[in-house]
Amino acid sequence: MNYTELPLEFAALEGKVQFVQKINENEYHSSCPQCGVEPHHNESNPSDRFVMWIASNTTGRPFGMCVRHCRYKWSSDKADADWTPEERAIFEQKRKELNEREEARIVDYAQNVIMKQKIYLRYNQELKKSVMGVEYLHERGFNNEWIGHLGLGIMHDYKVKGRNSTYYSPAITMPVIAEGGRIENIKMRVMQPNCKEDRYRSLYATQAQHYHLPNKDLKIGNKVILIEGEIKSDIVAMYAHLPSDLTIIGTQGKGIGQRLLRKLENVELIYLALDPDAFIPDLNGNVTVAQVARKTGIERTRFIPTNGKPDDMIMQGWNMLNAYKTHTMEIFQMTPESAEIVTNARRAEILLLLTQRPRRLDWLMGRYKLSRHSIIRDISILRRGRVIDTVQAGRLTWYELVN
Ligand SMILES: [Zn+2]
Repeated sequence: MNYTELPLEFAALEGKVQFVQKINENEYHSSCPQCGVEPHHNESNPSDRFVMWIASNTTGRPFGMCVRHCRYKWSSDKADADWTPEERAIFEQKRKELNEREEARIVDYAQNVIMKQKIYLRYNQELKKSVMGVEYLHERGFNNEWIGHLGLGIMHDYKVKGRNSTYYSPAITMPVIAEGGRIENIKMRVMQPNCKEDRYRSLYATQAQHYHLPNKDLKIGNKVILIEGEIKSDIVAMYAHLPSDLTIIGTQGKGIGQRLLRKLENVELIYLALDPDAFIPDLNGNVTVAQVARKTGIERTRFIPTNGKPDDMIMQGWNMLNAYKTHTMEIFQMTPESAEIVTNARRAEILLLLTQRPRRLDWLMGRYKLSRHSIIRDISILRRGRVIDTVQAGRLTWYELVN
C-alpha cells in the first residue's frame, strides 16, 4: 500500500489522520480525525473512511467527510479562521514549492523517459503500414498531414486491462502534447473495446494530470479554449480555424484539475466548448459547466453552447469560428437552435452567481426576464432535484434558499 503525505489544503489535520492515500488529483482517503480507524484495520486493508476533496463539487474548496462512519465534516473555512497571516504566508510558500517540485517531476519524466524512449515514433512508423489504422483515422477526420504533425501511431497488440476482462486489441497511439511539443504521455484509443469504459487508456502510469495542446504552442497564451479530450481538441485545431492567439487545450475528461488550473492562473479569458451534457444537471443537481466555471472564475469564463459534441458538429459543417465570434461576446446568447442548452446553461449560471453573490439576483431577473417563481424552480431543481414549495420558499431569503 502506498501512503502519501497529507495534501497541503488539509494541513490543519496534520497529526489527526493516518494512512493517507491518493486516489486521484482531487481525492484522498485516510483514517477519520474524529473516530479513527476501522476495527479491522491493517496495512493491506487500511482505514479509508475519511474522504478529502481538494476542490469539492459544491463549493470548489477543500472539504473532507467521514463517509463510512461518524459523518464528521471538515472544511477549510473552519480551519482558516485559526490561521495568522504569517502562518498563511508559510502555507502558501510551501504549497508553491510542492507544486513546483511536482511540475519539475512531470517535465523531467516527459523529457528523460517518454521522449528519450521515443516509442511513439515506432508506432508512427507502424501506422504507415496499417491500412486499418489509417482508414480509422481518416474516418475520424484526421488527414495525413495532421497524423504526421500529431505523431499518431498504432500498436497492434495492446494489452487492455478492461473493466470486465484483460484482452488484446489494436490501439491508436496519440502523444499527449504540452507546451513547446513536450510529450507527457501516450493516450491509447482502443480500437476494439469490449465496453465503453475501455476505450481510452494511458501508456505510461505518470500519476499526473495532463492536458493536450494540438497546435504544440510554445506556451499557454492569454486566451484559451477548453475542449474535452485529445481527439476533440485535435478536430477543433484541424477544422475550426480559430484565431491563432487562442490556445486550444484538450482536457482530461470534463473536469479541470489542479495542475491545469495552475497553468491557467494568468490567463485572461477562458472559453469552454464542452459537450452538451455538461449543461444538464445530474441527479444531485450538479452542473458540470457551473463547477468548471466556479473553478476557472466566472468573470473570465465564456461558454460556447452547442447542440452536439463539438467534433461531431464540426464534421457536420458547424461553423465554430462563427459561434466563437458571435455567441461568446456575452456569457450566454439565446439562439433558437440552442434554446434548450441555453436554458440549462442559464440555470447553471443562476446557481453559480447566487451561490457566490446572492445580491446579483435582481440583475439576473432583468437580464433573462425571469420571474421570481421560475428562478425558485430552477434553483430548487438544481439544488435538490425537486421543486420547493413556493409558499415555503417565499419565506426564505435568496441566500438561505441557495445555501
Ligand atoms: Zn469518523
